[in-house]
Amino acid sequence: MKQQLVLLYQLQQTDSQTEADEAELSGLDNGETLAGELEAEKAKLTELDDKLSAAQAELYDKQLQLQGTEDDRQTKWDQTYGGMISDPKELSALERKIQELDRRKDKLEEDIIMLLDDVDILQEQVDEKQTSVEEMSSRLSEVRQHFEQRCAELSEELEYLAQQRSELGAQIKSSLLDDYEHTRQHNANIAVAIAKDRACSACHTAVASSLLGELQQPTTVVRCESCRRVLVLDKWI
Ligand SMILES: [Zn+2]
Repeated sequence: MKQQLVLLYQLQQTDSQTEADEAELSGLDNGETLAGELEAEKAKLTELDDKLSAAQAELYDKQLQLQGTEDDRQTKWDQTYGGMISDPKELSALERKIQELDRRKDKLEEDIIMLLDDVDILQEQVDEKQTSVEEMSSRLSEVRQHFEQRCAELSEELEYLAQQRSELGAQIKSSLLDDYEHTRQHNANIAVAIAKDRACSACHTAVASSLLGELQQPTTVVRCESCRRVLVLDKWI
């Protein structure tokens, strides 16, 4: 009987490990959530990149306009004060034109200063987002790598456990196996407990001395009086 109970305990260990492995396997993070977050982060980066490009293009355009305005002003200045024109009306018109060009130049310079600020801020945001995308990508590849590796390890272990279970099952009497399955169903998947330090390892209730005496030379299944689990002695395992 003792040998049968030891085998039953080993079966319990196998089943518990199988259960733990299956739970771990189903709870493994395959990176799906992180991948979704990464996509969203990449979209934000693209959006910021587009804004930066638009601001840079606008800045370039304003700088060209400023250059053109300055050139135009210089031309008008040379015409006005170069001594080539003497008609007062024409001179007056040129002076008004120079004033208008000055106002346009001031406005363009203001716009350029604001755009330079915008470009700086956007560039900073793009750099930050780029770093964040890189970090998330690297984290995602770690998560995926761990997932693949752990899946392979657990699948291999589960295969081994299934084989072990079938080998153990073949050595255990069918009546005892039925008893085991029944007890397991009613005791949170744990049918076998260890009598250690005079207590049941599953429910921690003290095991009566008479039961411990019976367990020394078991002729039948000895159960914990409290949780009804099958008891084995710690020195057997
Ligand atoms: Zn118990």
